[in-house]
Amino acid sequence: MCGVSMPIPTPDEIDRWHKSGKLVASVFGLGYVGLCLSAFMAQRGIRVVGVDVSEEVVEKVRRGETPFFEPGLEEALKTCIASKMLEATTDSAYAVESSNVIVITVGTPLGVDGSAELRYLRSAAEAISSRLRAGQVVVLKSTVPPGTTEELLKPALEHGSGLKAEQDFALAFCPERLSEGRALEELAKLPVVVGAVGPRSRDCVVAFFRCLGLETIDVGNPRAAELVKLADNLWIDVSIALGNLIALFCETYGADVRKVISAANTLSRGYSSVNILNPGLVGGSCLPKDPLFLAAVGEKLGIDTSLIVSARNLNSSMYLHVLDLLRDGLLEAGKEVRKSRVAVLGLAFKGETSDTRESQSLKLIERLVGEGARVVAFDPYVKEAPAETASSVYEAVEGADAVVVATEHRAFQEVDWKRVWSLVKKPCVLVDARGIVDPNHAIELGFIWRGLGRPPQAFQRS
Ligand code: NAD
Repeated sequence: MCGVSMPIPTPDEIDRWHKSGKLVASVFGLGYVGLCLSAFMAQRGIRVVGVDVSEEVVEKVRRGETPFFEPGLEEALKTCIASKMLEATTDSAYAVESSNVIVITVGTPLGVDGSAELRYLRSAAEAISSRLRAGQVVVLKSTVPPGTTEELLKPALEHGSGLKAEQDFALAFCPERLSEGRALEELAKLPVVVGAVGPRSRDCVVAFFRCLGLETIDVGNPRAAELVKLADNLWIDVSIALGNLIALFCETYGADVRKVISAANTLSRGYSSVNILNPGLVGGSCLPKDPLFLAAVGEKLGIDTSLIVSARNLNSSMYLHVLDLLRDGLLEAGKEVRKSRVAVLGLAFKGETSDTRESQSLKLIERLVGEGARVVAFDPYVKEAPAETASSVYEAVEGADAVVVATEHRAFQEVDWKRVWSLVKKPCVLVDARGIVDPNHAIELGFIWRGLGRPPQAFQRS
């Protein structure tokens, strides 16, 4: 714990506190990011006080339970709670008073008007500012529109505390760039982008992340760091949109999108090479909203953001295309969606996570149910669905007229399709929206094959 009132710590002080086990960080928001980050920091010798407004979340964390599945997290959490390196509380005043460094990871969802909803950040800033002391370090990690750290967080902290950023306390924006399903692995290796409000803030924030064994990239100010995060997610969204667009052409021209993209990606340009991402169903709490933060800001600034919006529209409507593929396959089977039994494999928005936020699998299921299909879903990590659920792949596919692979979980990559074929009702359609089934094998077994960007004509029938 730090002393009563002191100037912004020097890098040497941060290092000394860490080595003597006295470095304490509070983490505001124990959601996906906050919980993974808390466990990661606690494992590396920083005592963590995690704060959440939800008593339910705090109670779960205290019991060492994760409210969601993330590989390795529950084990890490249990160890950190048992060793008292991590505690969870709803008491924000206690958390601020206990810590040298305050990290903010509250949610920043999309508002009803299409711009960022920053009320959770405002309320966290208000709680922190009422107890903020000179010498403390505040790091914002939530994804925010450019300008938020300097125009919203800094004045809120200064106003509530009577202190000045860079003079009395350190302040920086350091975006969180982890990917769900690989969070702990990525936290340990991704360089941390630092956008501080001044050199003293920068030096101590850099020292803090160095204690965690991480490289840092100083981009000069918070606005630049805010843009780095949005640029990363815009690139991912647009690159998947390119993959989805090429997939649609491949279906028309009888080509396999996986082969087309992997060959196209061999072209080097500049310091890198073409890197079109594979097509798929984009979901989750980041890609469906972060590019729109930029679009909303761009509109106010008179910047043409139609590229952002087009990519978003294409990606968010891909489940409708998957529905069309299914409809087409069922037509070939002499069936229709209504009254067909459809097994949907995967509810989470991506592999090895239980996160269903903005999952296109759920949207697809809702449409299928609405059109009169009997849907049976299975996901190894998600137990609730807007349809009947099964306890295994093989239970889900029993008597199915069609099977849709909607999530790329590892378990689905290891499915015994021969066994599936023995259980389904023939003729049976197999729609792969994730590119994880071998089309040749599926066609050989006898499935009516439909793959996103992988039309049957692109594969040899035996
Ligand atoms: P989340 O919704 O899972 O968690 C946010 C948590 O903050 C919730 O538990 C909520 O109860 C809590 N909270 C709200 N107001 C609070 C307050 N005033 N004080 C304390 N706790 C409060 O969100 P998430 O997925 O962890 O994302 C957090 C931020 O990180 C977002 O800005 C998101 O865009 C960004 N991000 C997310 C990911 C990801 O993969 N999920 C990756 C990188 C960045």
